Amino acid sequence: MSSYEAFHRRSIEDRDAFWTEQAMLVDWHRPFDRVCNYDNPPFARWFEGGQTNLCHNAVDRHLSVRGDQNALIFVSTETNAERVYSFRELHLEVQRMAAVLLAQGVKKGDRVLIYMPMIPEAAFAMLACARIGAIHCVVFGGFASHALASRIEDATPVAIVSADAGSRNGKVVPYKPLLDEAIRLSSHKPSSVVMVDRGLEPFVSLPGRDHDYTALREQHLNAQVPCEWLDATDISYTIYTSGTTGKPKGVQRDTGGYAVALAASMKHIFMGEPGETYFSTSDIGWVVGHSYIVYGPLIAGMATIMYEGLPVRPDAGIWWQLVEKYKVSVMFSAPTAVRVLKKHDAAYLQKYDLSSLKALFLAGEPLDEPTATWIADAIGVPIIDNYWQTESGWPILTIANGIEKKRSVFGSPGIPMYGYNVKLLHEATGEELTGADERGVVVVEGPTPPGFMQTVWKDDARFINTYWKSVPGKMVYSTFDWGIRDKNGYYFILGRTDDVINVAGHRLGTREIEESISSHPRIAEVAVVGVADALKGQVAMAFAVVKDAATLGDAAARLALEGEIMKRVDEQLGAVARPARVHFVSLLPKTRSGKMLRRAIQAVCEGRDPGDLTTMDDPSALQQIRDLLA
Ligand code: AMP
Repeated sequence: MSSYEAFHRRSIEDRDAFWTEQAMLVDWHRPFDRVCNYDNPPFARWFEGGQTNLCHNAVDRHLSVRGDQNALIFVSTETNAERVYSFRELHLEVQRMAAVLLAQGVKKGDRVLIYMPMIPEAAFAMLACARIGAIHCVVFGGFASHALASRIEDATPVAIVSADAGSRNGKVVPYKPLLDEAIRLSSHKPSSVVMVDRGLEPFVSLPGRDHDYTALREQHLNAQVPCEWLDATDISYTIYTSGTTGKPKGVQRDTGGYAVALAASMKHIFMGEPGETYFSTSDIGWVVGHSYIVYGPLIAGMATIMYEGLPVRPDAGIWWQLVEKYKVSVMFSAPTAVRVLKKHDAAYLQKYDLSSLKALFLAGEPLDEPTATWIADAIGVPIIDNYWQTESGWPILTIANGIEKKRSVFGSPGIPMYGYNVKLLHEATGEELTGADERGVVVVEGPTPPGFMQTVWKDDARFINTYWKSVPGKMVYSTFDWGIRDKNGYYFILGRTDDVINVAGHRLGTREIEESISSHPRIAEVAVVGVADALKGQVAMAFAVVKDAATLGDAAARLALEGEIMKRVDEQLGAVARPARVHFVSLLPKTRSGKMLRRAIQAVCEGRDPGDLTTMDDPSALQQIRDLLA
């Protein structure tokens, strides 16, 4: 047995001893009494009895050893700003933000919604929440008012921290009007909105509700806000993600398990050392931003780069210039970003001294072989694919070079990580597939490891019903991904089993997009599917039936309606969810019982065989789509 196999086996078979050792990577205010309480499956309660604090582990505990070392490096190529905070400065800023939130009436267990661009105050707000035991709920800044409203409604935040605007490709993207509209749409109203004014876009303040962060911060310059010691099982945050239904789910995470999971992953998987610099190009609105922009690197005593801007502006060398300047040792990005870089000359990347870089980790969507090979050749460091989900909080499949150096197999994210008892199940029978190269659903046998989601916020039943299945003697968590495992134990991910699509690494529910399109007064019915795209991995494609076909008119009228629909999706959900095309059809392919045949539509769009269509009601529906695309 290889040393990694032994490590993995121990994490499953001698679970408590294994995780007790890992737990020593973080500071505990009070030691835990029980490593894993799995008395009530599928709910795994990690490190019960223990008390700790994420902010303490990310910031305070480093002050004595590395107070003057870099902690947070902010670079914006949008506003040409660059600011570096040492751990000591970060500690001050987090306490100021924490004091501001406390003064706004935020208490332990209250939710604080963070709707912000990639600016340091966003990280201060997250850490400040962790510090005082408030639950943060970061909503991706690219989401628009309807998407934001449904999250406000579900999270019922006491306070919202936001900013006047973000910026993309040199263009100001106002946030405040979207936030105001979202609050108007939501039945829940936060009592306080704290606005970081970047001076990018004038905005209207609502007296009594809206407050200027700069002014509030001035009142708390010398704030001393101690960390609130939290139970390991107390909630640290929720983050919304898409699934089969239109309503996003609040993925709820604990405190102690998450701290341990991140600290362990920084050591065994990412191999980041204290004092080094970590650069994740994600956004705080996604789980990667939570785990590997904010918490993971800081817990490990590393500096973390927070970057606002595009990978190719001012030119395709910008990220690599930062690698040289800040001696980045670990980098984390998404295949889509690499495919964007790939359109440019590799010389842009090679202009800089990349000798500090030990590895580039890529996740969020399938990493295709040509993209992996191109970037490996361009930068000359190991490229490490890793597969995980918002739900898991840290990698499920990858390689753990900190335990044993393994080769990367391009096209495969790797092997199951310690703590994850990964299996493949037959889709129909639910039986475990033990042979090589068999296709099944990727599942994780409970208990899920530390750091994994605790439940769906306020909805244990939804957590169980959505994700868990009982198979004789145990419960398994479904990832909703198809996979196969080769004879060497490497997994290959073949796409989602549900109606989730992955556009440029952004996870979107087709149902949410359909709901937005259907809200257009002229639309009777719509189907949205994900279609393979060379750059973005997938794009959303919509097929809509208008209420009165006679009004559809000529090509210009169709184009105008398509534009209106796209605008509506932009306004309601955000440009990330905008379909690449909206095609108009007179009917949609359905089964005789009325179920939409999304998979058949998708197959036709991708030029594949749609498979068995014996249950289809009217074959001309699919033919219409074929004709349209031809
Ligand atoms: P998210 O919750 O946004 O992180 O999206 C999770 C989904 O993205 C997974 O269920 C997969 O479908 C996909 N995914 C993430 N990482 C990878 C990867 N390395 N390879 C293939 N698919 C991935």
